[in-house]
Amino acid sequence: MDYPSLTIDSIHAGLRDKAFSATELAAEAIRFAQASNQEIGAFLHFTPESALAAAAATDARLAAGEELLPLDGVPVAIKDVIMTEGVRTTCASKILENFVPPYTATAVRRLEAAGAMMLGKANCDEFAMGSSNENSAFYPVQNPAAPGRAPGGSSGGSAAAVAAGMAPIALGSDTGGSIRQPASFCGVVGVLPTYGRVSRYGLAAFASSLDHIGPFSKNVKDSARVMELISGRDPKDSTSAGAPVDDYVAALDGQVKGLKIGIPKEYFAEGLDPEVGARIQQAIQALEKLGCEPVEISMPHTEYAIATYYLICTAEASANLARYDGVRYTRRSEKGGDLRAMYRDSRHEGFGKEVTRRIILGTYVLSSGYYDAYYRKAQKVRRLITQDFEKAFETVDAIVTPVSPTPPFKLGELTADPLAMYLSDIYTVTASLAGICGVSVPCGVTQTEGLPVGLQILAKHFDEARMLKLADAYERTGRA
Ligand code: GLN
Repeated sequence: MDYPSLTIDSIHAGLRDKAFSATELAAEAIRFAQASNQEIGAFLHFTPESALAAAAATDARLAAGEELLPLDGVPVAIKDVIMTEGVRTTCASKILENFVPPYTATAVRRLEAAGAMMLGKANCDEFAMGSSNENSAFYPVQNPAAPGRAPGGSSGGSAAAVAAGMAPIALGSDTGGSIRQPASFCGVVGVLPTYGRVSRYGLAAFASSLDHIGPFSKNVKDSARVMELISGRDPKDSTSAGAPVDDYVAALDGQVKGLKIGIPKEYFAEGLDPEVGARIQQAIQALEKLGCEPVEISMPHTEYAIATYYLICTAEASANLARYDGVRYTRRSEKGGDLRAMYRDSRHEGFGKEVTRRIILGTYVLSSGYYDAYYRKAQKVRRLITQDFEKAFETVDAIVTPVSPTPPFKLGELTADPLAMYLSDIYTVTASLAGICGVSVPCGVTQTEGLPVGLQILAKHFDEARMLKLADAYERTGRA
């Protein structure tokens, strides 16, 4: 078997044809992923026992002549901000270095119920804060598609695991771009579901009004399959939506003729790397050839999106991260001293620089003298950004943009300049603020250096079916 190239279809074909058993597949998955990890760093820890146990259950089903479950035999990587019962979940932070959660996230439960085998926990930026995976408290991740370059973040480990063939499927989280941007940097597919589409029960909260769980895969169809499984109401997450879940795989019928594609001019202005721009223009032409109709639109509040996002997400983070106090599940400072000193030292020792910066900024913008000037103002601008989208979707079916203004940057290139790092999120935070869905689909590589470029397709709330249909139709043009 050529493990690194496997997809759900080829895994199921192999299992049915008895080319390999699930147990053989699991053993090869563990071997390959562990060997590759020394170079790539995509995983923080492995869970071979759970992979082998799931594989044994799959083999038992096969032996009994039962139908395969949707993810039977499919190895998955789970971002380490997503809880897994009995398996260390660190959020890539020293403060949770030894935390073993007593429960499993709903999204993971649903994958496991569908037969998936968990291979391990994926590296990421600490508490999902970052755009390069360099804020992991443990080690950085190499971009398998661009050596020496960042895999993107914060779900860099999940994206790299899929790009390197270590796992055909991974779960990540996206608050301001953390699925779409690493997918784009690593040349894989990554989906941001609509806010509320996928239960966040068991996702460590960063910014609750913006957090999502979503899949990574090698192709659109595999992400569509995972979306069918993890979407839908969960009584354990009061923000999960009851809207019916469409049959996303059936939606991939290639019928995109006549769809109106909005091209927001603000996303193609100053700051966009010309080589990235060229790839995106080519992708738009490919969609046009398929019968889509590109329409220039304007999203006038785009320029305020970074400021708005970094006020709201830091405010929410400062509240959410208050729970890591050294008393309960967090690592406690050994310095001793009174209660206040214990809180202070535990948090100081446990949180990295970026997390600390955000807690301070978020506390500041929520403080009584500044609340109106910053936090409330940001909420109002968030509304205006959402209205830009609502207005656009009155005339177009989907919006197409770059995912990132640049191709993957070099590891270390932006770490000294947090603002430059924040600015790289310019094209992803808008959809997050509006709560709509998005996908990053590979659209080739830059001409001079061969670096991956991702195409972002955005659709209105709960319109994942149409969004995935377009992404799949576009992906097929590359395969033809
Ligand atoms: N890069 C953005 C940030 O640092 C997005 C992170 C995310 O989506 N989790 O906040």
